[in-house]
Amino acid sequence: MASSALRNGTSKAPLKVERPLSVNSAIKTSNRQKASQPSPSGTRRTISGSLAGPGNKDDGAVSARVRVAVRLRPRNAEELVADADFADCVELQPELKRLKLRKNNWDSDTYQFDEVLTECASQKRVYEVVAKPVVESVLEGYNGTVMAYGQTGTGKTFTLGRLGEEDTAARGIMVRSMEDIFADISPDTDSVSVSYMQLYMETIQDLLDPGNDNIAIVEDPKTGDVSVPGAIVAEIRDQQSFVELLRLGEAHRFAANTKLNTESSRSHAILMVHVRRTVKGRPYRDLPLPTENGNASLLHKSFQAPLVRKSKLVVVDLAGSERIDKSGSEGHTLEEAKSINLSLSALGKCINALAENSPHVPTRDSKLTRLLRDSFGGTARTSLIVTIGPSPRHRGETASTIMFGQRAMKVENMVKLKEEFDYKSLCRKLERELDKVLAENERQKKFFEDEIEKISIEAQERISMAERKYADSLECERLKYQKEYMEAIRKLEEQWKINQQKLSNGRLEKEAKDKGIDETRVQEAAGLSASDDVVELKKLLQKEIQLRQAADQEINDLKSQLVQPKKLETADNVEFLKLGKMLEDEARQKQKLEEEIQVLKNQLLQMSFEADETRRSLDRGGSGKIFTGIDALMAAVKHPYTKDSGNGQKASIAKLFEQVGLQKILSLLESEDPDVRIHAVKVVANLAAEEANQERIVDAGGLTSLLMLLRSSEDETIRRVAAGAVANLAMNETNQELIMDQGGISLLSATAAEAEDPQTLRMVAGAIANLCGNDKLQTKLRGEGGIKALLGMVRCAHPDVLAQVARGIANFAKCESRASTQDMCATGTKSGRSLLIDDGALPWIVQNANNEASPIRRHIELALCHLAQHEVNAKDMIAGGALWELVRISRECSREDIRTLARRTLTSSPTFQTELRRLRIEC
Ligand code: ADP
Ligand code: MG
Repeated sequence: MASSALRNGTSKAPLKVERPLSVNSAIKTSNRQKASQPSPSGTRRTISGSLAGPGNKDDGAVSARVRVAVRLRPRNAEELVADADFADCVELQPELKRLKLRKNNWDSDTYQFDEVLTECASQKRVYEVVAKPVVESVLEGYNGTVMAYGQTGTGKTFTLGRLGEEDTAARGIMVRSMEDIFADISPDTDSVSVSYMQLYMETIQDLLDPGNDNIAIVEDPKTGDVSVPGAIVAEIRDQQSFVELLRLGEAHRFAANTKLNTESSRSHAILMVHVRRTVKGRPYRDLPLPTENGNASLLHKSFQAPLVRKSKLVVVDLAGSERIDKSGSEGHTLEEAKSINLSLSALGKCINALAENSPHVPTRDSKLTRLLRDSFGGTARTSLIVTIGPSPRHRGETASTIMFGQRAMKVENMVKLKEEFDYKSLCRKLERELDKVLAENERQKKFFEDEIEKISIEAQERISMAERKYADSLECERLKYQKEYMEAIRKLEEQWKINQQKLSNGRLEKEAKDKGIDETRVQEAAGLSASDDVVELKKLLQKEIQLRQAADQEINDLKSQLVQPKKLETADNVEFLKLGKMLEDEARQKQKLEEEIQVLKNQLLQMSFEADETRRSLDRGGSGKIFTGIDALMAAVKHPYTKDSGNGQKASIAKLFEQVGLQKILSLLESEDPDVRIHAVKVVANLAAEEANQERIVDAGGLTSLLMLLRSSEDETIRRVAAGAVANLAMNETNQELIMDQGGISLLSATAAEAEDPQTLRMVAGAIANLCGNDKLQTKLRGEGGIKALLGMVRCAHPDVLAQVARGIANFAKCESRASTQDMCATGTKSGRSLLIDDGALPWIVQNANNEASPIRRHIELALCHLAQHEVNAKDMIAGGALWELVRISRECSREDIRTLARRTLTSSPTFQTELRRLRIEC
């Protein structure tokens, strides 16, 4: 009769393993199969069909309602007589599991039970229906309760406690339960122990030890488990000893005779069967498992946590449920009578509270309810059998019994597996293992220490042996060398003595011969001879020193020889430089020679020219004065910068030109000799640079000849110079028209397309740029591809060429702007968009508007200003990014006039103004 709080408390218990059934698959399968799914072939089949299966709850507990069966006792002898004329107060419909309680002859109330057992129901069937599921559950590790409730004499004790010694078919639930338990457990690993007590007038008395008649109920504050540690817990090993124990308990049972039944008891009998089973445990995963040395499996085994299931079967034979006044119990005071029924009425209250899901369950009101807190609303699987009699005289009691059963059916328990790790035994086991390992470790350590000692002794011995050997051989060597040394000394001494003797003998002999000195003098002379030796040695030393010096000298020589090749290498370099110089001199010489050849060629030309002139003058009978002029002219042409320069030179050319005659010079443009042609065209070009000569050159057909050269000459130089001459002529407005009339623009365009030399391109661009400045020729020039030719030349990135292109564009733009202003003034009409824009000049203009070369930049800045004058160009200019450039020019241009022009242009153009406003640019 635990509250939900208690259930939670239970689940928090540190050592309890309240394993959810859904987590452990192995146990789950077996439990669920047995608990909720009737096995098709097992013993459960017959009974489980009558009980609905439990449902699963999230906290791991399994919901299991208290199962209630009702059993009707057959009429007893007295009733057969007394009630002979009356029908039973109840009518059973076992197939529908219904019971009808008659109100009167025509009316009855119907009640549904989990099982309805008629008066004919056998004890076996009653056991299987009521108790067997509970017993099986206990064997699986759940707590279980089987309880009989009913009026005295209706067969509670008959149902539960019959020993069936005379007739085995009469065995009650207690005996049969124990039979099933013994059949299932294995005596090696499991154990069964029993307590048997009775509760009478709120006192617990041990039926196995009647002297022990005030046993306390103890509740584990952590788990909420209830136990009666004061009662005897008898371990039993077989059925027989259990029956003996029951009989003993029965004998002790306090029984009070009542009017109704002399055997009936006013006490509650409580049998507690403790089942402890060892389950094959799982590896204890929290412990680190060694994996080396192949001992893993061994250790793995030893760390299997012993798992035990400690479940409890409680069989309660309640006191009679009838009211005490009616039963007329004798020999009891009213207080006593109240006390007798206190536990029972408390039980009724608790069941009512549980049935109504009341928040408070008065479990603590009586000892019975305290003992049964796990049976009702707790974790036990509980089966209640309510026993009724058939007599209509006890209809009231029967009705109240039925109502009790009905209420009990509403009580929901949460069955939980009572499984826990047996840490004590694991600990013991591990300690044993540890001791073994420690002992082994100690043995091994000792073994290793001994080994190390042995090895180090051995090594020490070897070392000292080696040292000894070494010392011996050293001594031997020493002695050997000492001996050899002594020997050598001895020999030297002998030698020295011999030498001394020889020397002194020789001298003495000589001196003795010469002077005939005495013996003492001979000895003195010996001393002198030693000093002679020293002198000798000194000499030798001197010689050695000299030799050494000679060797040093030789080494120095060799060293200097080594340096020699390096010097040679330097000399080579000098030679190489000399050669380079010579080569340069040669090149200069060659150039000089070439120049001389050129002079000679020119002289040849001059001579041929003179011959020609002579012939003509002879033809005409003229004088030869002119030759001098031509000579000078040609010389001036050939060497334009050698003698004079600037105006002086030009003046002399002009002078000579007067003398020679233009016609002659022009005729040379068609000379067979290419050199002559080149020189001639150069002369013409120089002449054309002078404005004064231009008209005459054109009049004499010079322009036509120059254009002819442009058209026909293969020579790049000729074309370059011719284009330069045309450019010079194109400075004049009249000439410009003539050039255009003679197809000059197409010729210039063709030259522009073919030429690669920047100087040629510069001349061509210059010529076209000049033409661009003519207001009248705008359309024609553009029509004949002048602008395109101009733009085509920007491929040559030479700044001089680009400057000419920019000038041409600026000229053209200026003319256009002038023309549009005139149109506006004259006709009031607007002319069309700029031809420059039409011919795609704008991108290049914008791109080069800020060119770093100032001539290019200035021309383009002007061109932009001119283009911007004309409103019709504004849109394209904005689109092409020219507006930005104009703004920049108006702000940054270093020339004030251009700056002002740009600003004025921007201010006067409504289109630009709108755009600038849109871009929020102040101008
Ligand atoms: P209770 O324990 O409820 O007071 P008992 O078990 O002592 O009742 O039964 C009273 C009498 O009725 C007993 O003599 C018992 O043998 C008999 N009795 C009870 N139930 C049955 C039954 N189902 N079939 C036959 N006799 C029964
Ligand atoms: Mg009884």
